[in-house]
Amino acid sequence: MANIAVDSIKERTFDAIVIGSGASGGWAAKELTEKGLKTLLLERGRDVVHVKDYPTTNLYPYEFEHRGEMTHADKLANPIANRCYAYKEDSQHFFVKDDEHPYVQEKDFDWIRGYQVGGKSLLWARQTQRWSEYDFEGPARDGFVVDWPIRYADIAPWYSHVERFVGIAGNRDGLATLPDGEFLPGYPLNAVEDHFRNTVNQHFKGRHIISARCAHLSQPQPIHIEQGRVQCQNRKLCQRGCPFGGYFSSNASTIPWAQKTGNLSLRPHSVAHSVLYDEDSGRATGVKVIDTNSLEEIDFYAKVVFVNASTLNTNLILLNSISNRFPEGLGNDNGLMGKFVAFHNYTARISAEYDGLLQYRTDGRNPAGGGYIPNFRNVMKQETDFLRGWAAAFGASRYENRDSSSVGDELKQGLLNSTWSNWRVHSHMMAETIPKEQNRVWLDADKKDKWGVPLLHVSVDYADDDWQRRQDYYDRMTEMYEAAGFTNIKTQDDGRRPGNDIHEMGGVRMGHDPKTSLLNKWNQLHLCKNVYVTDGACMTSTATQNPTLTYMALAARAVDHAVKELKIA
Ligand SMILES: Cc1cc2nc3c(=O)[nH]c(=O)nc-3n(C[C@H](O)[C@H](O)[C@H](O)COP(=O)(O)OP(=O)(O)OC[C@H]3O[C@@H](n4cnc5c(N)ncnc54)[C@H](O)[C@@H]3O)c2cc1C
Ligand code: SF4
Repeated sequence: MANIAVDSIKERTFDAIVIGSGASGGWAAKELTEKGLKTLLLERGRDVVHVKDYPTTNLYPYEFEHRGEMTHADKLANPIANRCYAYKEDSQHFFVKDDEHPYVQEKDFDWIRGYQVGGKSLLWARQTQRWSEYDFEGPARDGFVVDWPIRYADIAPWYSHVERFVGIAGNRDGLATLPDGEFLPGYPLNAVEDHFRNTVNQHFKGRHIISARCAHLSQPQPIHIEQGRVQCQNRKLCQRGCPFGGYFSSNASTIPWAQKTGNLSLRPHSVAHSVLYDEDSGRATGVKVIDTNSLEEIDFYAKVVFVNASTLNTNLILLNSISNRFPEGLGNDNGLMGKFVAFHNYTARISAEYDGLLQYRTDGRNPAGGGYIPNFRNVMKQETDFLRGWAAAFGASRYENRDSSSVGDELKQGLLNSTWSNWRVHSHMMAETIPKEQNRVWLDADKKDKWGVPLLHVSVDYADDDWQRRQDYYDRMTEMYEAAGFTNIKTQDDGRRPGNDIHEMGGVRMGHDPKTSLLNKWNQLHLCKNVYVTDGACMTSTATQNPTLTYMALAARAVDHAVKELKIA
């Protein structure tokens, strides 16, 4: 369709287009603009300007109408969003409402989305771990899916590049399974977390408890000050947006940085409908966009396109990018696009109590959240009936009990003379899942959303091996808890649906062979080389680590390649 609102094709032509302004798209935009490319950053949602658009950031609990909780009516209207632990009165404006953005759940699947400039980088829990050699080798060694076309050495310098800019608090733990990075000082474990660490070190060879690594400025460096970000104040109100820029988000970091180059055009309210393809040149020429205000259809052009709309939306856009040459989706000759979608299994928890170390307590806040247990299962050799393993979060805390059951002076005394609980310890599992062909997404043939984009069908589920891995988590954690003297140990299936882990991956996987994968080792579509996918859609397998650091590193690496290809650098 001809464009009405924009003056000329020239004004709609850029060197590069990035679809999606979240964690990975923000990185693509930063790198492209820094390297001198005029870049259009398309975002379907509204603009969110750092600090200015964080309406709840400085509110006290009593200033919220419902004291921070969601209403019964909202829970009924938005059951998917409400199942996300971070969806609360102070942060709900950064989440998609269920009824406004429908999709078809062939099987139960919680698709948690943040449609605004910054995407889910405003909301994330900021846990950041590198993948290890063991993770990249995994599929080839253990014989599932296809071989990753890259190894740790390919991405290691890009992890460093991203970590230095983002700011990651962590310790150099020297573990082969969780390589060290470019760290700011880590947050310390508390007394009981440290006790658990020492016990595990003493009794369980090859198992480790470390301080969680997280994207917080524990000690800002000049590069962070230059971004306008300062020291994290340990407020732990991050999901509201942080006025200090204490944690990494696109809004606080990559997008303003890209804007400062003068090379960025940020276009909110722009739904990418599909990638445009020219059969003569065999290349993508741009992106078809629906303006959400005017509902106008506008084509934008560029030499290179980065698709970073977050895993499932990236699948959707590419499946919707049809032409005579690619009737099943751009680059989808092998019919694998949308298949082998995977996630992390977060369904298990284990809690306990501890009566020791009562001379210590935890009045302060640790933005990293406590301890992290890197996967130790099936690392050096296959030890179990199931493939791969699990990682876990671990924390300990004490609660202050105040007696508020009376009135007057008695109430005053009750409140002033609080007592402290014994220690409560808790952990949750973060298990790898094996990508399976039947776990897939596809487009509805008829039904469309209000912008004329086909609805996405999602058919993704757990499998038997997920429950084997979970039982192993319960068993191994119980033996470690017992060794540490913890009592009243309780395991819990928290009933999470797939997707609620918010680590959906795959569908446009990387691989060596165009017959069995969609992307090559540079994240280019095998069959349309000027289209790059560097969000979770590209992931061949899932490992156990929180994935966003890897998406950002892959984005930076792919931009470097794209710019060299364009011979502009
Ligand atoms: C509560 C919570 C906790 C989390 N904790 C962690 C954690 O501790 N560690 C970790 O690694 N990860 C965590 N995650 C996941 C992390 O947020 C995502 O992995 C990360 O944001 C993905 O980056 P992305 O760029 O792929 O997607 P997003 O950040 O979601 O950005 C995608 C952007 O694309 C836009 N978009 C989508 N479709 C279109 C379209 N058609 N046209 C134009 N724009 C479009 C969206 O509006 C969005 O802005 C968490 C997520 C949540 C919600
Ligand atoms: S904990 Fe740090 S990053 Fe989070 S809101 Fe507080 S100051 Fe900001």
